[in-house]
Amino acid sequence: MTSFLALLGGTPAVTAAAPHFSWPPIDDITRAKVLAQLDSAVSTPGRSGIVAVLEDALQDYFGTRHAITTSSGTAALHAAYWAARIQPGDEVIVPAWTFHATASPLFQLGAVPVLCETLPDGNIDPSRVAELITPRTRAIMVTHLWGKPADMTDLAAIAKNRDLDLLEDGSHAHGAGHSGQKAGTFGLAGAFSLNGPKPLSGGEGGFVLTDDDDTYYRILTFAHYNKRARDEIPKDHPLAPYAVTGAGLKLRIHPLAAALAHDQLARLDTYLAGREEIAAYLTRELDRTPGLEVAPMPEGVKSSWYALTAVYRSDQLGGLSLGRFHEALVAEGATEFDLPGSTRPLNQLPLYQHPSHLFPGYPAARSRYRPGDFPIAEKAHAHTIKLPVWHREQDLKLAEQYVSAARKVSEHHKELL
Ligand SMILES: *Cc1c(COP(=O)(O)O)cnc(C)c1O
Repeated sequence: MTSFLALLGGTPAVTAAAPHFSWPPIDDITRAKVLAQLDSAVSTPGRSGIVAVLEDALQDYFGTRHAITTSSGTAALHAAYWAARIQPGDEVIVPAWTFHATASPLFQLGAVPVLCETLPDGNIDPSRVAELITPRTRAIMVTHLWGKPADMTDLAAIAKNRDLDLLEDGSHAHGAGHSGQKAGTFGLAGAFSLNGPKPLSGGEGGFVLTDDDDTYYRILTFAHYNKRARDEIPKDHPLAPYAVTGAGLKLRIHPLAAALAHDQLARLDTYLAGREEIAAYLTRELDRTPGLEVAPMPEGVKSSWYALTAVYRSDQLGGLSLGRFHEALVAEGATEFDLPGSTRPLNQLPLYQHPSHLFPGYPAARSRYRPGDFPIAEKAHAHTIKLPVWHREQDLKLAEQYVSAARKVSEHHKELL
């Protein structure tokens, strides 16, 4: 006799053909805009053309004085750290659970990422920051994990009291915010990725937001140099003599990526509103499924829904492992259910365990992490199962099929034990 479960030979719950989620959404208008850019310019050395158009639109959207595009989110973070004058030996407090590039550029600067325990939702725990501050601490970097904004009120107060720069990695959280303020605008600078699956995508690319002119000039010096630095850095500024070379790197966005990102930015709020609807449905229905817990978004907190995360409760399913539960969901055709891989507690990565293998002379004793160092973040990560969040009304049908798949595996879990 065959089982009802697809993993054991039954019929899959999800009947729609995969892939079920592709990002960014591209239509004929998007295609026309990128093609028009191809005909107008494929290189923009100054702040002109599509780069200026995109940066102006980002400034309008986020309400910041400056937005500077970069080649990637990693480059945006690298530039933001350099612009914040992070120097060799300096310490920066970063969440223990994030995508590594939130913190990894610090190694390039000879600075030390100091990992901070997170809350169960994966965001940095403000109550654990103070104990990590030393005379070498210069800044706090905050990720808004999966698009849920971290509580910036406490973090801003700590940064202010201890005279530290507050920096944000908004790469999951374009358009997210709390109390009406957008993620990425709370501190000295906010760095964002425009990479493929991010809520705002140019395929590749990134940007930094800041209200501070000096930080802006420093980012131009680090990421752009030559024409743009010569045009924009005032002649009497101490960085002006370095305009031709900058700091030796070149981290510009590609104009085709800028055209794509600009097209997407105009749609971002529509995407987020659509995601909000489907996320509300998924939150309610998945939370009613034994084995899964989905916390509601707190009042006043707006997520970008880069992912909807559920806490897997194996204790509610007779001890069934998350790996096996996930395998059964994928067999049901619910192929977008995912266990977070590269976005994991950084103490589990060789770069954070043995940085001096890659960076000889690194002050290794101060950043040598081991598995088990961050029990809350590690436990949360090990029990997280996530879904991308659809934004179109017609995708609600697919979301319903995903809920059916989860219900089915949950109800029949005994067959998997
Ligand atoms: C994607 C991402 C980055 C890196 O951005 P790239 O554009 O891929 O270089 C950094 N931080 C977080 C949290 C990210 O999700």
